[in-house]
Amino acid sequence: MKRKLKEENNAGGSGIPASKSQSKGKGKGKQVKRQKSAASANKSDVVWPEYFNSLFKTFKAINTVLAFVSSKKQLAVTFSAIRTSVEAQLKHPLEISSIAELKALLPDLVKFSYVPKDQLQVHGDKDKDFQLPSRGAGANSMKGGGGHILILELADNLQPKKSKNAGFAYSQPPAVSPAALKKLIDERNEACKEALDNLVIHAGPEEDPAALLQDAGREYLPADPTAPAVPSQPEASHVVPEHKDRPAIASVVKEILEQPWYKEQIVHHQVFEPKPPLDGSVDPPPSPAILQALADSRNITGFYSHQARAIEEIRQGHHVVVSTSTASGKSVVYQVPLLMALEKDPDAKAIFVYPTKALAQDQKASLEQLLFSCEGLSHLKVDTYDGDTPQDARATVRETASVIFTNFDTIHASILPHEDTWRKFLKNVKLFVVDELHYYTGLFGSHVALILRRFRRVSAAVGNRRVQFISCTATLANSGPHMQKMFGLESNDVIAITEDGAPASQKDFVVWNPPLVDPMQPALGRASSISEASSLMRFLMKKGIRVILFCKIRKVCELAMKTIKADLSNEGCYDVLERVRPYRGGYSREDRRRIEADAFSGQLLGIIATNALELGVDIGVLDAVIMLGFPMTVPSFRQQAGRAGRRSKDSLIVLLTEPFAVDQYYANHPDELFDKKLEGLMVDVDSRVVLEAHLQCASYEMPISLSDEKWFGTALPELCDNSLLKDRDGWYHPHSNFLPYPAAHVSIRGAQDEKYLVVEMDEHADSLKSIEEVEVSRAMFEIYEGGFLHQGITFITKEVSHDTRVAKVIRADVNYHTSPRDYTDVNALRTYRIRRAKGTLAYYGKVHVHVKVFGFFKIRNKTILDAVEVDTPAWDRDTTGFWIDVPRDILNLLRSLQLNVAEAIHAAEHAFLLQFPLSEDVRTECKAAEKEYKVTESMRKRPARVIFYDSIGKGGGVSARAFDNVQSILEQACDVVANCPCEDGCTKCVQSPACKEANQVSSKLGALIILKGFLGRELNYSQETLQEGVYTGPETIVDAPAVLATPDIEIEES
Ligand SMILES: [Zn+2]
Ligand SMILES: [Zn+2]
Repeated sequence: MKRKLKEENNAGGSGIPASKSQSKGKGKGKQVKRQKSAASANKSDVVWPEYFNSLFKTFKAINTVLAFVSSKKQLAVTFSAIRTSVEAQLKHPLEISSIAELKALLPDLVKFSYVPKDQLQVHGDKDKDFQLPSRGAGANSMKGGGGHILILELADNLQPKKSKNAGFAYSQPPAVSPAALKKLIDERNEACKEALDNLVIHAGPEEDPAALLQDAGREYLPADPTAPAVPSQPEASHVVPEHKDRPAIASVVKEILEQPWYKEQIVHHQVFEPKPPLDGSVDPPPSPAILQALADSRNITGFYSHQARAIEEIRQGHHVVVSTSTASGKSVVYQVPLLMALEKDPDAKAIFVYPTKALAQDQKASLEQLLFSCEGLSHLKVDTYDGDTPQDARATVRETASVIFTNFDTIHASILPHEDTWRKFLKNVKLFVVDELHYYTGLFGSHVALILRRFRRVSAAVGNRRVQFISCTATLANSGPHMQKMFGLESNDVIAITEDGAPASQKDFVVWNPPLVDPMQPALGRASSISEASSLMRFLMKKGIRVILFCKIRKVCELAMKTIKADLSNEGCYDVLERVRPYRGGYSREDRRRIEADAFSGQLLGIIATNALELGVDIGVLDAVIMLGFPMTVPSFRQQAGRAGRRSKDSLIVLLTEPFAVDQYYANHPDELFDKKLEGLMVDVDSRVVLEAHLQCASYEMPISLSDEKWFGTALPELCDNSLLKDRDGWYHPHSNFLPYPAAHVSIRGAQDEKYLVVEMDEHADSLKSIEEVEVSRAMFEIYEGGFLHQGITFITKEVSHDTRVAKVIRADVNYHTSPRDYTDVNALRTYRIRRAKGTLAYYGKVHVHVKVFGFFKIRNKTILDAVEVDTPAWDRDTTGFWIDVPRDILNLLRSLQLNVAEAIHAAEHAFLLQFPLSEDVRTECKAAEKEYKVTESMRKRPARVIFYDSIGKGGGVSARAFDNVQSILEQACDVVANCPCEDGCTKCVQSPACKEANQVSSKLGALIILKGFLGRELNYSQETLQEGVYTGPETIVDAPAVLATPDIEIEES
C-alpha cells in the first residue's frame, strides 16, 4: 500500500506542474523514476519551509478526523460536518485554500469538491445508518447556494486480508480495527510528508516550494456550480473539443502513455489498418427506380462484393446466409431483393424478424424510407405486428402490409395458430428474413428452429412452397450448415456468403490490465477495474471522443456511473458530467428514447451500458468502446467492438480485463478475439422435450400425420403415439393438457416474463413510483434488503416480497455498495430415470432449488466495511435436473490426500459443464468461499454429489440432453482435465466464467479424481506424490442421502 502511495505522490504524479527545469521534453514515465531515486537519496535531510510544517499539521488533523468519521459511518462526509472537529484539533480556522493545496499535492488521495445534493441526501429515512452527520458551526457559510454540497474525503486504501485456508473469516463483521485505522492514518501522513519532501527536492533553484504549492492550490479551489460565479475562482481549464475537431486515436493512445496514471496497463496494442472497399456488380442491375431510391434515401451508389453476390443468388432462387463483419451494410442484402420482388409482383409479402424491438424499429424506419423513395412502390405499407400491436389494428396490418416486422414469439403464439386469418398473407410470402441469426442459440434457438419448421409446414399446406429464407449473422465458422439446421433446409439450397467487401476504417485495439495495487505484494491483487475504466473514459471524453463503456451486469453499470460522476465532479468537469448517461435494460421506454435521442444527436459524450445495447439501435457515431471485463463470449465481444467507428473515422477498442481467469486468458491470447471464426452455434432440434412441445402446437395448427416426418424428423411417430391424441382416421391432435391453446403452454424464452417490480417510496411512504423491472434470475441477487443501485443514484431496498414480486426502495446516498451473501441449495427430490455411465449411475429427476440471501457486505473500494444479516424470505422453485453421487471410496481417497472435497466437487461440476455445448441453460450448485473456508464448523452440510439443473422457467429439457450423453461428456471432461497443461485449473478445464462464486472454491486435482472415479479409471495417488493437499479445515460435505424413485425404473445403458 505504502509503495503505491509513494509512487503516486511524487511530484510527477501530483497535480503540481513540474518545475520548469524538468518540464522540458521527455516522457513523464522517465521523470518519475529519476525523481524517485533522488527522493530516496535525499529524503532524510530535506528542510521544509515553515509553511509546510503548518500545512502538514492541517493534513494530519484532517486525516485523523476523517479516518474516524469514515470508520464509524459509511457516509459521504461533507466539509461542514468535519470542519469543527478539525478546527478543534488545529486550534485555528481551517482554510479552504489549505485543503485545495493538499489536493494539489495529493490529487488521488484528497477528494474535495461539490457534488449535487440530490445524490447525497437521504429522503425521508429515519434510520441512523443512512443519515448525514449533523452539521457543525459554520456549515451554512459553506453550503452550496443551490443544489450542491462540498465534500471532503480521503480515498480509501485499505485492503481486506485474504488467506485461503487460514479462515477467510468473513463471519465476523470486518470493521476496521483500531490498529488498522492507526496504520492507515500513519500511511497517509507518510504519503503527505513524502510529497512535501519531493516538492522541496525538485523545486528549481530560484523557486519557492511554498509559493509553487499555493499557486497550484488555486487551481483546485472547489467551485460551487450553482453559486454565482466568483471571478477569482478559475474556470475548469479544459474545453471539450467539437466532435469534428477531436484528435486522431493514434495520437490519443500515445498521450495516454504519458499520463501520470498510466502504469503499463496496456499489455497488448494492435492496429487494424484501414481496408478499401471491394466493389461488386449486379447483372442485370436492379431497376433505375430502385437504384435511384438507394441513392436518395441511403446515399448508396454501388454495391460491395458481398451485397452484389447475395442479390444475385437470391434472384436465382437460393436461400442465402451472409456472414460478414458488423456494419458491413447487411440490410441492403435483403432490402434490394425485396424491392425487386415487389416490382415484379405488387402482392408479394415478406416477414422480417429481428431479435430486439429496438433493432426492428430502426430497420423498419430505414425500409420505409427506401420504399417511399422508390418510384412505383411508395404506396406500399410496412408494419409492425407483435405483442404490442393493438387488437383492433391487427386485421388491418394483416390485410394491408406488404412487409411485417415481427418476432418469433408472435409467429409462435399468434400467427401460426391463426393460419386461417393469415392464409392470404402466408400464400404470398416471398421472403422471410432473419437478421442476427447467431442470436438464436441454445434452448431459445432450438425453439426457433422448430417454429421455423412449423412455419414451413403451414406455408406448404396453403400452397406456398417457394418462400426464400435470408439471414445475416456475425462471422461464423459454419454459417451455411447453421442456416440449414435452423431452417431445416437441404445443403444444396443454401448459399453462404462470407467474403466481406465493406471498407473498414483504422481501428486501434488495446488490452488494458489494471496495475497491481502494490507491485511488491502481488497478493493484494489488481487495482479496481471500475476506477481504471473511469480514468480512461474521462480522459477520452475530455478530448471530445465519444465513448461507450460496456459493463457485464447492471450493478457494475451503476457502480461505474457513480464512480465516473463522482470523479468528474471531483475534477470540476461539470460540462462533461452533464454529457454522460447510463443506458441499460429495465428503464422505462421514455427514458430509453430520451437517452437514445441524446446519443444520436451527438449530445452525449459517454454512455455506460449493459449489453442491452449490444444488438440495439443506431446511436450515432461512437469513437471508442471500452469493455469492462470480457463480455462472456467472443460473439458478444465482436458485437460490442463493432459499436465503434461505424463510419469512416478511426476508432479505439479497449478490453479492460478483470482478475477472472477468462479475462486473463484473453489478455494472453488476444489474437483469438478477432481472428478466429466462431465455432458452431448450438441448436438442438432433436430435444424430445422441445420437439414434443412444438408437435402439440403444430397439431393444433393442422392435424399431424406420419408424413410430417419430413418437417420434424424420425422421432415423430413415437412422440405422437406417446403424447398426442390419435383420431379414427389416424390424424394426431394436441393432448387435452395443452388445450385450448397449446402455444400458451410453450414458453420459448423461459422465465424472463417473471419479473420483479422495483418501486420507490417517498418521504412518507405514502406514494410509490415504479422505477424498473428486474428479471427473476437477477432479482434474487440484486434486490435484497440492503442496497440497490439505479442511474448512478443509490437506492436502498427496504422491503422485498417474493409473492407479489415487488421491492420497495428509498433514495439515499451512501459511499459504499453492497454484495449479497447468499447460498443456493440444490436438492434431488425424486428420481425418474437412471442411466449407467461406466462405473457409475446417473440419476435424472425432480430437483428443488432453494436460494437464500442471508445478508450482505457493505463494500467500499474493495474493502468490506461491514457484514449485515438480513432476514429476507427464501426463494424456492422446483425444476428438473440430474446428479451423480460421489462414491464412498472416492471420498475416502480425497480425504486421505487431504484434498478439500467441496473444491473437488465444484471443480468437477464445472469441468462437466464446460464440455456440454448447451451449458448456457444448465446450472449447478456453486460453492462459496465464505462458507467453505469458514473456520468454524458449518451447519449447512451438503451431499457428496455433483448436481445440475435446468435454469428455472426455461422450459426444461436441456439437462435431459446432458443426462442422455452423460458418459461421453464425462469422458471428454476427464480427458480435458487430465491433459490440460495448466497448473491449478483454468477456463479450459475446470473454471467457468459462469460460476456464480468466481471459481474461488476449486481443485483441479480433486476434479480429476472424481471424474476418474465416476468412469472407473485407474487412481494411483498417494500423499507422497502430491504437491498440494493439506486441507485440514472442517468438512462441509456428507454422504449423499438416498432419493425417492418412481417405481420400476429400468436402468438405461450408455
Ligand atoms: Zn486447465
Ligand atoms: Zn461454480
